[in-house]
Amino acid sequence: MTTYADIVIIGAGLMGCSTALCLARKGKKVILLEKESFPRHASAVNAGGVRQLNRSVEEIPISVGAMELWPRLDKIVGNDCGFRPVGQILIAPHTSAMNALEQRIESLTSLGFYHEELISPFDVKRLVPAYSGKCSGGIMSKKDGFALPALTLKTFKNAACSAGVQFQSNCKVIDIAHNGSKFKFHSEDGRTFESGVLVNCAGAWGKTIAAFFDDQLPIEPTGLSMMVTARMPRFITPVIGIYGEKLSFKQMENNTVLIGGGRKAVLNMVNERTDLDFSEMQKSAQTVQANFPIMKKASVVRCWAGIEGIIKDHLPVISKSNKIQGLFHVCGFSTHGFQLSPMIGRLAASMVMDKSPEVSLEAFSMNRFETA
Ligand SMILES: Cc1cc2nc3c(=O)[nH]c(=O)nc-3n(C[C@H](O)[C@H](O)[C@H](O)COP(=O)(O)OP(=O)(O)OC[C@H]3O[C@@H](n4cnc5c(N)ncnc54)[C@H](O)[C@@H]3O)c2cc1C
Repeated sequence: MTTYADIVIIGAGLMGCSTALCLARKGKKVILLEKESFPRHASAVNAGGVRQLNRSVEEIPISVGAMELWPRLDKIVGNDCGFRPVGQILIAPHTSAMNALEQRIESLTSLGFYHEELISPFDVKRLVPAYSGKCSGGIMSKKDGFALPALTLKTFKNAACSAGVQFQSNCKVIDIAHNGSKFKFHSEDGRTFESGVLVNCAGAWGKTIAAFFDDQLPIEPTGLSMMVTARMPRFITPVIGIYGEKLSFKQMENNTVLIGGGRKAVLNMVNERTDLDFSEMQKSAQTVQANFPIMKKASVVRCWAGIEGIIKDHLPVISKSNKIQGLFHVCGFSTHGFQLSPMIGRLAASMVMDKSPEVSLEAFSMNRFETA
């Protein structure tokens, strides 16, 4: 028996759930297909950083739009998703880093963006007294912070289902055909679906879904690792990065310390398994201990890795297909999609419904790959 919908979305990570929610609230019949029993990839295991700070200029309008939504998630999806606007700081450990950050702020100001501000070494000392590394100042985005990824994902999925989205779990799409007007989907366990529109929200697997239609998406699946410590005495409030270092560092509300920043894990995409690379974890720990002496007393209680789809220019693809009418790609969020996710649903829904999106999506078109 085939199930019909206006729109099928493949992938129930945050991008799929956020898009499904917005489309269902606009009256569309949506089916969300997910190969896991519950979505458990990048959206569920990320660092929870809600960051406008130091983004590519192309992404800033989406990021600023998303930042308006995070403090209102309680009203929008029925839960605050653990969002805490504690601010994010990028410390400049030397003058050349500070010069680069000063130039960034000057250029953002000339473009009309004021969410990031320069801070002095004195401000860093005041805001991050536990930091003992070199410091020439830094930049800060006060409205940024962190949220809880697993709770955010569950909240968006529940909100989508309450809005009428049909969620199909354990439903790995293994074949898709298009007959000129309709898509037909087959899952590994024999379920079939039909729709007029397909939205590819398959994250690191986005390239595989696009390949059914000869659309080339240069998305590179990558394993990224994280670690968390036992509870520590309270010593830091904002989320910290250090210019030139692979580090994202925050103390959660339960006083554990979460350490990430793009350290790679060993990924096997055949069995979708990530193995931690302990030499990478060691480098992360060394950076943290060199800059925060209190962390010499920390015990790491858990490490894990997630699978993320990365595009070389570090921008996602949010684009219609040039070949197939009704096919849209929303994937490749390149390590920083969590913060964007509440806004992505709105933009993807506008794109699918052929309405003008709230911000231009031109920079995210797949045409850029052809030009490249
Ligand atoms: C360790 C780590 C830390 C990160 N930290 C941050 C951070 O602090 N801040 C930030 O903004 N971003 C962060 N990110 C990035 C962020 O998590 C991602 O950009 C975002 O979650 C991507 O969401 P998605 O929905 O595109 O992908 P995913 O969450 O991966 O969802 C894609 C879904 O598609 C499903 N799927 C794939 N193929 C099929 C198929 N054939 N059939 C059915 N279903 C399929 C998958 O099972 C998966 O559930 C981090 C990522 C990682 C891995």
